[in-house]
Amino acid sequence: MKFSFTVTRKDSRTRARAGVLRTPHGKVQTPVFMPVGTMGAVKALSPDDLKAAGAQIILGNAYYLYLRPGDVAIQKLGGLHRFMGWDGPLLTDSGGYQVSSLGSFREDGESILSRIDDDGVTFRSHLDGSEHRLTPEDVIVIQRNLGADIIMAFDEATPPRGKRYAQKAMERTHRWLKRSIERWRELQENRGRGASPQALFGIIQGGNYKDLRRESAEFVVPQDLPGIAIGGASIGKSPDETRENVDWVYDLLVHDRPLYLMGVGVNPQDVVAAIESGADLFDCVAPTRLARMGHLYFGKLQLAKRKWAFESEFRKGRMNIGNARFRLDKKPIQEDCGCYTCIRGFSRAYLHHLFKSRELLYYRLASIHNVRFMIRLTEVLRKVILE
Ligand SMILES: [Zn+2]
Repeated sequence: MKFSFTVTRKDSRTRARAGVLRTPHGKVQTPVFMPVGTMGAVKALSPDDLKAAGAQIILGNAYYLYLRPGDVAIQKLGGLHRFMGWDGPLLTDSGGYQVSSLGSFREDGESILSRIDDDGVTFRSHLDGSEHRLTPEDVIVIQRNLGADIIMAFDEATPPRGKRYAQKAMERTHRWLKRSIERWRELQENRGRGASPQALFGIIQGGNYKDLRRESAEFVVPQDLPGIAIGGASIGKSPDETRENVDWVYDLLVHDRPLYLMGVGVNPQDVVAAIESGADLFDCVAPTRLARMGHLYFGKLQLAKRKWAFESEFRKGRMNIGNARFRLDKKPIQEDCGCYTCIRGFSRAYLHHLFKSRELLYYRLASIHNVRFMIRLTEVLRKVILE
Protein backbone atom coordinates (compact mmCIF):
# COMPACT_ATOMS: atom_id res chain seq x y z
CA MET A 1 0.00 0.00 0.00
CA LYS A 2 2.96 2.28 0.41
CA PHE A 3 4.23 4.74 -2.15
CA SER A 4 7.61 3.89 -3.67
CA PHE A 5 9.69 4.39 -6.80
CA THR A 6 12.32 2.08 -8.25
CA VAL A 7 14.52 2.76 -11.26
CA THR A 8 14.79 -0.49 -13.22
CA ARG A 9 17.13 0.58 -15.97
CA LYS A 10 18.93 3.64 -17.32
CA ASP A 11 19.57 4.44 -20.96
CA SER A 12 23.26 4.52 -21.83
CA ARG A 13 23.04 7.41 -24.27
CA THR A 14 20.50 9.81 -22.74
CA ARG A 15 19.04 10.48 -19.29
CA ALA A 16 16.02 8.33 -20.11
CA ARG A 17 15.17 5.69 -17.55
CA ALA A 18 12.56 3.02 -16.94
CA GLY A 19 11.09 2.45 -13.51
CA VAL A 20 8.11 1.39 -11.43
CA LEU A 21 6.05 3.73 -9.31
CA ARG A 22 3.95 2.01 -6.64
CA THR A 23 0.82 3.73 -5.34
CA PRO A 24 -2.08 2.58 -3.13
CA HIS A 25 -4.12 2.11 -6.33
CA GLY A 26 -1.58 0.07 -8.23
CA LYS A 27 1.71 0.16 -10.09
CA VAL A 28 2.74 2.55 -12.85
CA GLN A 29 5.44 1.59 -15.35
CA THR A 30 7.50 4.68 -16.10
CA PRO A 31 8.12 6.73 -18.16
CA VAL A 32 4.42 7.36 -18.39
CA PHE A 33 2.13 9.72 -20.24
CA MET A 34 -0.83 10.81 -18.08
CA PRO A 35 -4.08 11.79 -19.85
CA VAL A 36 -5.77 14.79 -18.24
CA GLY A 37 -9.29 14.64 -16.83
CA THR A 38 -9.58 18.20 -15.54
CA MET A 39 -13.20 18.00 -14.37
CA GLY A 40 -13.07 14.34 -13.37
CA ALA A 41 -13.32 12.94 -16.91
CA VAL A 42 -10.88 12.68 -19.79
CA LYS A 43 -13.08 14.36 -22.39
CA ALA A 44 -15.14 11.91 -24.49
CA LEU A 45 -13.49 8.84 -22.93
CA SER A 46 -14.84 6.32 -20.41
CA PRO A 47 -12.54 4.65 -17.86
CA ASP A 48 -12.75 1.50 -20.01
CA ASP A 49 -11.65 3.46 -23.11
CA LEU A 50 -8.68 4.75 -21.09
CA LYS A 51 -7.73 1.28 -19.84
CA ALA A 52 -7.96 -0.08 -23.40
CA ALA A 53 -5.72 2.77 -24.60
CA GLY A 54 -3.11 1.68 -22.03
CA ALA A 55 -3.56 4.59 -19.62
CA GLN A 56 -2.04 3.74 -16.24
CA ILE A 57 -2.58 6.96 -14.31
CA ILE A 58 -4.77 9.98 -14.98
CA LEU A 59 -5.03 13.54 -13.72
CA GLY A 60 -7.76 15.59 -12.11
CA ASN A 61 -7.67 19.25 -11.20
CA ALA A 62 -8.28 20.33 -7.60
CA TYR A 63 -9.28 23.88 -8.56
CA TYR A 64 -12.08 22.90 -10.95
CA LEU A 65 -13.36 20.09 -8.72
CA TYR A 66 -13.33 22.40 -5.67
CA LEU A 67 -15.57 24.88 -7.53
CA ARG A 68 -17.85 22.16 -8.94
CA PRO A 69 -19.15 19.81 -7.59
CA GLY A 70 -17.03 20.61 -4.50
CA ASP A 71 -14.32 18.52 -2.85
CA VAL A 72 -16.53 17.85 0.20
CA ALA A 73 -19.33 16.53 -2.03
CA ILE A 74 -16.83 14.23 -3.76
CA GLN A 75 -15.54 13.02 -0.40
CA LYS A 76 -19.11 12.24 0.70
CA LEU A 77 -19.57 10.27 -2.52
CA GLY A 78 -16.59 8.08 -1.70
CA GLY A 79 -13.68 10.09 -3.13
CA LEU A 80 -12.60 10.95 -6.66
CA HIS A 81 -11.64 7.38 -7.67
CA ARG A 82 -15.13 6.07 -6.94
CA PHE A 83 -16.88 9.23 -8.19
CA MET A 84 -15.35 8.95 -11.66
CA GLY A 85 -15.19 5.15 -11.82
CA TRP A 86 -11.41 4.97 -12.13
CA ASP A 87 -9.77 2.44 -9.81
CA GLY A 88 -6.17 3.04 -10.97
CA PRO A 89 -3.61 5.59 -9.77
CA LEU A 90 -4.76 9.21 -9.81
CA LEU A 91 -2.92 12.53 -9.51
CA THR A 92 -4.51 15.88 -8.74
CA ASP A 93 -2.95 19.16 -9.74
CA SER A 94 -3.20 21.88 -7.11
CA GLY A 95 -4.83 24.52 -9.28
CA GLY A 96 -1.96 26.95 -8.72
CA TYR A 97 -1.55 27.27 -12.46
CA GLN A 98 -5.25 27.96 -12.98
CA VAL A 99 -5.49 30.51 -10.18
CA SER A 100 -2.36 32.40 -11.17
CA SER A 101 -3.12 32.36 -14.89
CA LEU A 102 -6.84 33.11 -14.61
CA GLY A 103 -6.66 36.84 -14.83
CA SER A 104 -6.07 38.69 -17.99
CA PHE A 105 -3.42 41.07 -16.71
CA ARG A 106 -4.03 44.80 -16.66
CA GLU A 107 -1.25 47.13 -17.72
CA ASP A 108 -0.18 47.64 -14.11
CA GLY A 109 0.34 43.89 -13.89
CA GLU A 110 -2.60 43.22 -11.56
CA SER A 111 -4.67 40.20 -12.39
CA ILE A 112 -8.34 41.05 -12.73
CA LEU A 113 -9.79 37.74 -11.66
CA SER A 114 -7.31 36.77 -8.96
CA ARG A 115 -5.23 38.57 -6.36
CA ILE A 116 -2.20 36.82 -4.92
CA ASP A 117 -0.69 37.80 -1.59
CA ASP A 118 1.75 36.06 0.72
CA ASP A 119 -0.95 34.18 2.56
CA GLY A 120 -2.87 32.85 -0.43
CA VAL A 121 -5.05 33.73 -3.39
CA THR A 122 -8.39 35.56 -3.60
CA PHE A 123 -10.22 34.97 -6.83
CA ARG A 124 -13.59 35.04 -8.49
CA SER A 125 -15.11 31.81 -9.73
CA HIS A 126 -15.25 31.58 -13.52
CA LEU A 127 -18.63 29.82 -13.03
CA ASP A 128 -20.68 32.38 -11.10
CA GLY A 129 -18.39 35.24 -10.14
CA SER A 130 -18.48 34.33 -6.42
CA GLU A 131 -15.40 35.28 -4.38
CA HIS A 132 -13.14 32.55 -2.98
CA ARG A 133 -10.00 32.49 -0.91
CA LEU A 134 -7.49 29.64 -0.90
CA THR A 135 -4.34 29.21 1.14
CA PRO A 136 -1.68 26.54 0.54
CA GLU A 137 -3.10 24.63 3.53
CA ASP A 138 -6.64 24.73 2.07
CA VAL A 139 -5.40 23.23 -1.18
CA ILE A 140 -3.83 20.30 0.70
CA VAL A 141 -7.14 19.70 2.50
CA ILE A 142 -9.08 19.89 -0.79
CA GLN A 143 -6.76 17.29 -2.31
CA ARG A 144 -7.07 15.11 0.80
CA ASN A 145 -10.86 15.20 0.33
CA LEU A 146 -10.51 14.24 -3.33
CA GLY A 147 -8.20 11.40 -2.33
CA ALA A 148 -5.78 11.14 -5.27
CA ASP A 149 -2.63 9.05 -4.84
CA ILE A 150 -0.31 11.91 -5.81
CA ILE A 151 -1.06 15.50 -4.84
CA MET A 152 0.72 18.73 -5.78
CA ALA A 153 1.78 21.65 -3.62
CA PHE A 154 0.06 24.98 -4.31
CA ASP A 155 2.34 27.15 -6.44
CA GLU A 156 2.31 30.40 -8.30
CA ALA A 157 2.97 29.63 -11.93
CA THR A 158 5.61 32.12 -13.11
CA PRO A 159 3.77 34.85 -14.97
CA PRO A 160 5.38 36.55 -17.98
CA ARG A 161 6.18 39.70 -16.05
CA GLY A 162 9.95 39.84 -16.09
CA LYS A 163 12.68 38.43 -13.88
CA ARG A 164 11.95 40.45 -10.76
CA TYR A 165 8.42 39.15 -10.63
CA ALA A 166 9.54 35.61 -11.50
CA GLN A 167 11.83 35.73 -8.48
CA LYS A 168 9.06 37.04 -6.23
CA ALA A 169 6.67 34.33 -7.43
CA MET A 170 9.32 31.66 -6.91
CA GLU A 171 10.11 32.78 -3.37
CA ARG A 172 6.41 32.80 -2.54
CA THR A 173 6.04 29.29 -4.00
CA HIS A 174 8.87 28.17 -1.68
CA ARG A 175 7.19 29.64 1.42
CA TRP A 176 3.92 28.02 0.36
CA LEU A 177 5.70 24.69 -0.08
CA LYS A 178 6.89 24.76 3.56
CA ARG A 179 3.31 25.38 4.71
CA SER A 180 1.91 22.70 2.37
CA ILE A 181 4.38 20.13 3.71
CA GLU A 182 3.44 20.91 7.31
CA ARG A 183 -0.29 20.46 6.63
CA TRP A 184 0.31 17.36 4.53
CA ARG A 185 2.44 15.71 7.27
CA GLU A 186 -0.24 16.48 9.87
CA LEU A 187 -2.97 14.94 7.74
CA GLN A 188 -0.86 11.88 6.89
CA GLU A 189 -0.09 11.23 10.57
CA ASN A 190 -3.72 11.63 11.62
CA ARG A 191 -5.44 9.96 8.71
CA GLY A 192 -8.22 7.61 9.68
CA ARG A 193 -8.03 3.84 9.45
CA GLY A 194 -8.51 2.65 5.89
CA ALA A 195 -7.61 6.03 4.39
CA SER A 196 -4.91 5.69 1.72
CA PRO A 197 -1.64 7.58 2.11
CA GLN A 198 -0.99 10.39 -0.37
CA ALA A 199 2.35 11.41 -1.87
CA LEU A 200 3.06 15.14 -2.06
CA PHE A 201 5.23 16.47 -4.89
CA GLY A 202 6.99 19.85 -4.70
CA ILE A 203 7.30 22.05 -7.80
CA ILE A 204 10.44 23.72 -9.11
CA GLN A 205 9.60 27.12 -10.61
CA GLY A 206 11.77 30.05 -11.71
CA GLY A 207 10.52 30.73 -15.22
CA ASN A 208 12.98 31.01 -18.03
CA TYR A 209 15.94 31.97 -15.83
CA LYS A 210 18.68 29.48 -15.19
CA ASP A 211 19.83 31.01 -11.88
CA LEU A 212 16.25 31.10 -10.54
CA ARG A 213 15.60 27.54 -11.65
CA ARG A 214 18.71 26.39 -9.82
CA GLU A 215 17.80 28.38 -6.72
CA SER A 216 14.34 26.79 -6.80
CA ALA A 217 15.77 23.26 -7.15
CA GLU A 218 18.16 23.95 -4.25
CA PHE A 219 15.14 24.78 -2.13
CA VAL A 220 12.65 22.13 -3.27
CA VAL A 221 14.89 19.03 -3.52
CA PRO A 222 16.13 19.02 0.14
CA GLN A 223 12.51 18.99 1.37
CA ASP A 224 12.81 15.24 0.80
CA LEU A 225 9.34 14.76 -0.73
CA PRO A 226 8.21 11.57 -2.52
CA GLY A 227 8.52 13.29 -5.91
CA ILE A 228 9.73 16.42 -7.68
CA ALA A 229 7.96 18.32 -10.44
CA ILE A 230 9.21 20.96 -12.84
CA GLY A 231 6.55 23.56 -13.62
CA GLY A 232 6.34 25.96 -16.52
CA ALA A 233 8.86 24.11 -18.68
CA SER A 234 6.46 23.31 -21.47
CA ILE A 235 3.82 25.81 -22.47
CA GLY A 236 4.87 27.64 -25.60
CA LYS A 237 8.27 25.98 -25.52
CA SER A 238 10.07 23.87 -28.12
CA PRO A 239 11.34 20.37 -27.26
CA ASP A 240 14.88 21.85 -27.05
CA GLU A 241 13.76 24.51 -24.57
CA THR A 242 12.02 21.86 -22.46
CA ARG A 243 15.26 19.84 -22.44
CA GLU A 244 17.19 22.96 -21.43
CA ASN A 245 14.83 23.66 -18.51
CA VAL A 246 15.54 20.17 -17.15
CA ASP A 247 19.29 20.36 -17.92
CA TRP A 248 19.62 23.49 -15.78
CA VAL A 249 18.62 21.65 -12.60
CA TYR A 250 19.43 18.03 -13.42
CA ASP A 251 22.60 17.82 -11.28
CA LEU A 252 20.68 19.13 -8.26
CA LEU A 253 17.94 16.46 -8.35
CA VAL A 254 17.91 13.29 -6.28
CA HIS A 255 17.57 10.48 -8.74
CA ASP A 256 15.76 7.94 -6.59
CA ARG A 257 12.60 10.10 -6.78
CA PRO A 258 10.21 10.35 -9.71
CA LEU A 259 10.57 13.45 -11.85
CA TYR A 260 7.33 14.92 -13.19
CA LEU A 261 7.50 17.32 -16.11
CA MET A 262 4.24 19.25 -15.96
CA GLY A 263 2.19 19.98 -19.07
CA VAL A 264 4.50 18.24 -21.54
CA GLY A 265 3.16 16.31 -24.53
CA VAL A 266 1.53 18.53 -27.16
CA ASN A 267 3.44 16.93 -30.03
CA PRO A 268 5.05 13.48 -30.34
CA GLN A 269 8.46 15.21 -30.44
CA ASP A 270 7.77 16.58 -26.95
CA VAL A 271 7.32 13.06 -25.60
CA VAL A 272 10.73 12.03 -26.96
CA ALA A 273 12.31 15.18 -25.46
CA ALA A 274 10.65 14.65 -22.06
CA ILE A 275 11.76 11.03 -21.77
CA GLU A 276 15.31 11.72 -23.00
CA SER A 277 15.68 14.60 -20.56
CA GLY A 278 14.98 12.23 -17.67
CA ALA A 279 11.28 12.72 -16.92
CA ASP A 280 9.37 9.79 -15.44
CA LEU A 281 5.89 11.33 -15.59
CA PHE A 282 4.37 13.94 -17.87
CA ASP A 283 0.85 15.05 -18.74
CA CYS A 284 -0.92 17.15 -21.29
CA VAL A 285 -4.48 18.10 -22.28
CA ALA A 286 -3.37 18.53 -25.90
CA PRO A 287 -3.94 15.01 -27.31
CA THR A 288 -7.68 15.11 -26.54
CA ARG A 289 -8.04 18.83 -27.28
CA LEU A 290 -6.27 18.48 -30.64
CA ALA A 291 -8.38 15.43 -31.47
CA ARG A 292 -11.55 17.47 -31.01
CA MET A 293 -10.13 20.11 -33.33
CA GLY A 294 -9.53 17.54 -36.06
CA HIS A 295 -5.80 16.98 -35.51
CA LEU A 296 -4.87 13.30 -35.45
CA TYR A 297 -1.33 12.11 -34.73
CA PHE A 298 0.50 10.17 -37.43
CA GLY A 299 4.09 8.98 -37.73
CA LYS A 300 6.67 6.76 -36.05
CA LEU A 301 9.94 6.65 -34.20
CA GLN A 302 13.04 6.14 -36.31
CA LEU A 303 16.52 5.33 -35.13
CA ALA A 304 19.07 7.41 -37.06
CA LYS A 305 22.70 7.84 -36.03
CA ARG A 306 21.91 6.17 -32.69
CA LYS A 307 19.30 8.85 -31.98
CA TRP A 308 15.56 8.34 -31.76
CA ALA A 309 13.53 10.85 -33.67
CA PHE A 310 9.85 11.09 -34.46
CA GLU A 311 9.17 11.24 -38.16
CA SER A 312 5.95 11.99 -39.96
CA GLU A 313 4.84 12.98 -43.43
CA PHE A 314 2.55 15.51 -41.76
CA ARG A 315 3.67 18.81 -40.31
CA LYS A 316 3.96 18.62 -36.49
CA GLY A 317 3.21 14.90 -36.78
CA ARG A 318 -0.54 15.23 -37.21
CA MET A 319 -3.09 15.20 -40.01
CA ASN A 320 -6.03 17.56 -40.20
CA ILE A 321 -8.92 15.16 -40.73
CA GLY A 322 -11.19 18.00 -41.85
CA ASN A 323 -9.09 18.35 -44.99
CA ALA A 324 -10.91 17.47 -48.24
CA ARG A 325 -8.09 15.08 -49.24
CA PHE A 326 -9.48 12.52 -46.74
CA ARG A 327 -13.00 12.53 -48.18
CA LEU A 328 -12.51 9.22 -50.03
CA ASP A 329 -9.54 7.84 -48.07
CA LYS A 330 -10.28 4.20 -47.13
CA LYS A 331 -7.24 3.74 -44.87
CA PRO A 332 -7.45 3.83 -41.07
CA ILE A 333 -5.74 6.82 -39.42
CA GLN A 334 -2.55 4.75 -39.06
CA GLU A 335 -2.30 1.04 -40.06
CA ASP A 336 -0.02 -0.06 -37.21
CA CYS A 337 -1.48 2.15 -34.49
CA GLY A 338 -3.22 -0.51 -32.45
CA CYS A 339 -5.91 1.73 -30.97
CA TYR A 340 -9.56 0.70 -31.05
CA THR A 341 -10.38 3.22 -33.80
CA CYS A 342 -7.62 1.98 -36.11
CA ILE A 343 -7.98 -1.76 -35.36
CA ARG A 344 -11.73 -1.58 -35.94
CA GLY A 345 -10.92 -0.19 -39.36
CA PHE A 346 -12.83 3.11 -39.24
CA SER A 347 -11.59 4.91 -42.33
CA ARG A 348 -10.18 8.40 -42.59
CA ALA A 349 -13.13 9.09 -44.89
CA TYR A 350 -15.58 8.09 -42.16
CA LEU A 351 -13.77 10.17 -39.51
CA HIS A 352 -13.67 13.10 -41.97
CA HIS A 353 -17.43 12.75 -42.40
CA LEU A 354 -18.13 12.46 -38.66
CA PHE A 355 -15.92 15.49 -37.96
CA LYS A 356 -17.66 17.57 -40.62
CA SER A 357 -21.07 16.47 -39.27
CA ARG A 358 -20.00 17.12 -35.67
CA GLU A 359 -21.18 13.66 -34.73
CA LEU A 360 -20.47 12.85 -31.08
CA LEU A 361 -18.88 9.53 -32.06
CA TYR A 362 -16.11 11.48 -33.79
CA TYR A 363 -14.89 12.92 -30.48
CA ARG A 364 -14.62 9.49 -28.89
CA LEU A 365 -12.90 7.76 -31.83
CA ALA A 366 -10.46 10.64 -32.38
CA SER A 367 -9.61 10.98 -28.67
CA ILE A 368 -9.01 7.24 -28.36
CA HIS A 369 -6.51 7.42 -31.24
CA ASN A 370 -4.59 10.44 -29.96
CA VAL A 371 -4.36 9.21 -26.36
CA ARG A 372 -3.29 5.71 -27.44
CA PHE A 373 -0.75 7.27 -29.82
CA MET A 374 1.06 9.17 -27.03
CA ILE A 375 0.91 6.17 -24.70
CA ARG A 376 2.24 3.81 -27.37
CA LEU A 377 5.11 6.17 -28.14
CA THR A 378 5.99 6.13 -24.43
CA GLU A 379 5.72 2.32 -24.32
CA VAL A 380 8.04 1.94 -27.32
CA LEU A 381 10.65 4.21 -25.74
CA ARG A 382 10.35 2.33 -22.44
CA LYS A 383 11.04 -0.91 -24.26
CA VAL A 384 14.07 0.65 -25.95
CA ILE A 385 15.43 1.72 -22.54
CA LEU A 386 14.88 -1.76 -21.09
CA GLU A 387 16.61 -3.43 -24.01
ZN1 LIG B 1 -5.23 4.76 -33.89
